[in-house]
Amino acid sequence: MNAVRRLSRCLACHFACLLAQPPGSAAIAAALAATLSLAALPTQAQEQVLNLYSARHYQTDEALYTNFTRATGIRINRVEADDAGILARLQAEGTASPADVILLVDAARLWRGEQEGLFQPFKSAVVEQRIPAQFRAGDASRGMQWVGVSTRARVIVYDKTRVKASDVDSYEKLASPALKGQVCLRSGSHPYNLSLFGSVLEHLGPQNTEAWLKGIVANMARAPKGGDTDQIRGVASGECGVAVTNTYYFARLMRSARPEDKDLVDRVGLVFPNQGSWGTHVNISGAAVARHARNREAAVKFIEYLAGDEAQRMLADGNNEYATAPGVQMTNPALKALGSFKAETVPIAKVGANTTQVQQMLDRVGFK
Ligand code: FE
Repeated sequence: MNAVRRLSRCLACHFACLLAQPPGSAAIAAALAATLSLAALPTQAQEQVLNLYSARHYQTDEALYTNFTRATGIRINRVEADDAGILARLQAEGTASPADVILLVDAARLWRGEQEGLFQPFKSAVVEQRIPAQFRAGDASRGMQWVGVSTRARVIVYDKTRVKASDVDSYEKLASPALKGQVCLRSGSHPYNLSLFGSVLEHLGPQNTEAWLKGIVANMARAPKGGDTDQIRGVASGECGVAVTNTYYFARLMRSARPEDKDLVDRVGLVFPNQGSWGTHVNISGAAVARHARNREAAVKFIEYLAGDEAQRMLADGNNEYATAPGVQMTNPALKALGSFKAETVPIAKVGANTTQVQQMLDRVGFK
């Protein structure tokens, strides 16, 4: 009898059969292993594990993962890196990648991941019903490539002692000669800025966008450096008259108990740009199913959880982001104080797709 047939018979009779095998038979080991793994099955089913690669760098997310596990019994095994690090890791791992689901914090990078074939399309009536089409990428028949689970507005902050809100109420004005020597930005190639410029490209077209970027370079108070919070600090310290930041960094300072953070917020004004035209640029944090996911079903379940009411509220109340699902009631005092605003409606996938062209413009105009 060959080993396979012997093994299948053993599966039927378990240990009694093992005793009947010739001493030292390889089938004994195989059958024993099969018997043990059968015995372990119910436990494994309870302890399903979802491998999450996340670029979200926010402590409040811990509660999201705990609640998902509580609701589904699926444990989350998390790997954290920045967006670029996660994409590089997925590339390097190839078909051996253990990743099931991916969370990135920017449309430019999500679009890049899609282009590099690192995701697989998925379908979910829940996600389609909860998240507006503007924040979903992919085609309707094949499924979604990635989906925005939260948004963050990219706003302009300014030194109230020397700049008026009306001087900076549009992105276009960042290039106005009136702001010469006053503009501070983080690197132009950072995904948050790439996506902002990708949005502007959608609205202004290539020629005007490149001229606009050139104008911003001419207005810089210093060479681009630091993160978004550093730009806010630069305004408060007087080094910069005007800067650009994602809303959640500002809201985090607004909610801080530290007197120096409160002081900083008091010195700085904030405007939601382009309220009189196309609306303020909003970027996303978004999710995708990994190309070689072994737990595809659990990955989709996780994305559906993130699109649900509880997670959407937690993203807003915990990390000061905005929900992508409409009608979610948040209690965040900082976001309430910032007030409602008109957001752009350009599809986020278009913004992502524009970023390659934007990078070439940045290189031409010397925007580091
Ligand atoms: Fe960030």
